[in-house]
Amino acid sequence: MPPTTPQPKDRDDAAVIVVGAGPAGSATAYHLARAGVDVLLLEKAEFPREKVCGDGLTPRAVHQLIRMGVDVDGPGWTRSRGMRWVAGGRSALIEWPRLGRYPDFGLTRTRHDFDDLLARHAVGAGARLRTGTKVTGALTDRAGRVIGVRAQVGPERTESEYRARVVVAADGASARLALGLGLRRDERQPIATAARRYYRSPQRSQEEYLELWADLRLPGTDRYLPGYGWIFPMGDGRVNVGLGALPNRRNGTVDLRATMDHWLARTPAHWGLRPGEGDAAEGQVLSAALPLGFNRHPQYGRGLLLVGDSGGMVSPWNGEGIAQALEAGEVAAEAVAMALTVPDGPAHERALGRYPVEMSRRWGRHYRLGNVLTKHVFSRAGFQPLLNGWVMGSPAVLDGMARLLVGLTDDPPRDRVDRVLGTLLRLVPEPKPSR
Ligand SMILES: Cc1cc2nc3c(=O)[nH]c(=O)nc-3n(C[C@H](O)[C@H](O)[C@H](O)COP(=O)(O)OP(=O)(O)OC[C@H]3O[C@@H](n4cnc5c(N)ncnc54)[C@H](O)[C@@H]3O)c2cc1C
Repeated sequence: MPPTTPQPKDRDDAAVIVVGAGPAGSATAYHLARAGVDVLLLEKAEFPREKVCGDGLTPRAVHQLIRMGVDVDGPGWTRSRGMRWVAGGRSALIEWPRLGRYPDFGLTRTRHDFDDLLARHAVGAGARLRTGTKVTGALTDRAGRVIGVRAQVGPERTESEYRARVVVAADGASARLALGLGLRRDERQPIATAARRYYRSPQRSQEEYLELWADLRLPGTDRYLPGYGWIFPMGDGRVNVGLGALPNRRNGTVDLRATMDHWLARTPAHWGLRPGEGDAAEGQVLSAALPLGFNRHPQYGRGLLLVGDSGGMVSPWNGEGIAQALEAGEVAAEAVAMALTVPDGPAHERALGRYPVEMSRRWGRHYRLGNVLTKHVFSRAGFQPLLNGWVMGSPAVLDGMARLLVGLTDDPPRDRVDRVLGTLLRLVPEPKPSR
């Protein structure tokens, strides 16, 4: 017999609404559901769907997947042992460090698969996912506090409203929900842009290292790209090839596509990456923005938390954003689950205010230093000034630099590199949490 009263799964309200089912949103929803919270995850697209990305996961991202109980040994994952940096005609291999805190391997997987898998994982834990649901704005009470969202649902764009005690914005770099509430980005932080394309390259596809090229030049000039290029093995006969660039007044707008062609023309013909030779490219060159260095504040305010790219959480060191999105999702979920145990009021607000405090504790100093280097070094010539012949020939220095770039240190410190990096970061004043 059909049910006569609406079942809980059909309700349009929830304890928590999460907007966007990318890594940030699915991680937040997963951890909330695991804590027994009624969570509604609203996503405008239908899965599986494309997301422009390099598809590279560092050990810090893998660590978060393991914490979520994702089976990283199953089919579809390609493991990496470390990175290969190419600069100034030299190349150097750097193994992922053996730390107590993080695994010693990275992964690649297309976002087409990865985001679908994570969203299903959140549903498996008890989150309610609504795809084809485009959030158009926040619902606020008289005091301006967010109490839900408005959305257009399905192909007919049916107007709907969803209410919750807490709303999480995980809607990516466009950050529409935050912008609608007047939360503009911090103009002092640059926004990088990155582009990628898949190529069939059976030989490079089985590589065990994520390859990073630090000495790319802008076509028609002698200037170095203020960024780097990557070739990431996908394990399925393809590689993900791309590059990212920081804005720099001297260069004007960087033509990423032309720079990519200029670079790939230097690669050996048998890799299948040279422009115009053979038919190895699959699909178009697609590009998107990378909001860096905690560029949107406050990360919590008026009942709304910003998680992942919507809070500008991409690392200013290397353009990585998935580990940060997953980690922020877990931190946000913990703060929200605690806040839900008390009625609305000061104790509720204090619990939610733990989110920016914990994010600052984890990443604040690292990002502050990264933001300074981005402004004064990386935005001029990428990593090229740091990767001279001496550095490229010094495995210990490269190991230290790699750990700094990816944020891989042990706690308590494991070795001399950890101690040096720990001391360096302690010298950086911790920024005030973004409230
Ligand atoms: C070219 C490129 C290469 C990159 N390479 C890497 C890499 O190799 N490794 C890495 O770690 N990071 C990489 N990044 C960064 C990484 O892609 C992001 O940091 C990461 O996707 C952030 O996750 P997120 O969940 O915050 O946002 P997103 O992944 O953008 O997810 C946001 C979700 O919200 C949905 N959404 C948006 N608006 C609405 C709305 N109004 N209503 C409902 N749903 C909505 C979107 O459809 C999407 O599913 C790269 C970025 C680019 C551009």
